[in-house]
Amino acid sequence: ARRPLIAGNWKMNMDHLQSIALVQKLAWTLKDAKFDGTSVEVAVFPPFTDLRSVQTLIDAERFTLAFGAQDLSPHDSGAYTGDISGAFLKALSCTYVIVGHSERRQLHGETDEVVNAKVLAAVKHGLVPVICVGETEAELEEHGTSAVPVAQTKAALAGVPVGTPVVVAYEPVWAIGTGKVATPETAQEVGAAIRAAVAEALSADDAAATRILYGGSVKSGNIAGFLRQPDVDGALVGGASLDPTEFAAIARFPD
Ligand code: 13P
Repeated sequence: ARRPLIAGNWKMNMDHLQSIALVQKLAWTLKDAKFDGTSVEVAVFPPFTDLRSVQTLIDAERFTLAFGAQDLSPHDSGAYTGDISGAFLKALSCTYVIVGHSERRQLHGETDEVVNAKVLAAVKHGLVPVICVGETEAELEEHGTSAVPVAQTKAALAGVPVGTPVVVAYEPVWAIGTGKVATPETAQEVGAAIRAAVAEALSADDAAATRILYGGSVKSGNIAGFLRQPDVDGALVGGASLDPTEFAAIARFPD
């Protein structure tokens, strides 16, 4: 059975001081609720500048929280002003790194080729990529429900060795930060199609092990319907992950 993953993508919110307060409050809220992290994994994705603080805090307090970054460079090091290497993230004990978020695809022109190069860089440095896929409203009308997420998944996994742990997050662009949420049935349909794509790109065993998340306006009030779906193994939460009480309520649901 796959251990569900509840992931909080903070986006460009919280400076390093605020990140300490948020992680503390989140960990204490989960602790009060007797959450021990065995039945569900909780991970936070702060901005780069917060990672050292978050690492130090989680380490010192032995919080059962995982963490990762929101992006990485496809390169290892060199003349890439402003970019961050996967090697640096690994040195900060990041477990995960988000790759190909729709905001990166849209605002930074990241193509499927760039996303693939970043996935390969993450894997090379021992980070688990959380690969974001999803269609815009126009693409939904033109191509139907699963075509774009499936194509993006296959492109992202090109050249990834069989047996590599990856996470795929289905985030319909029209559901991100809009309050418009996909139905659990749609998330299931796309989740199953993504799993088939992982089987094709990697292997049947990899597909069975891969956690497929839903993202887009997830809240404590709608998480239950998603987690009941056999091919939805958690959530990638944006706005609601900035409120520790609300995020803890989302994370505790499967407990
Ligand atoms: P919201 O939960 O704010 O809709 O954001 C979803 C998202 O983009 C997570 O990566």
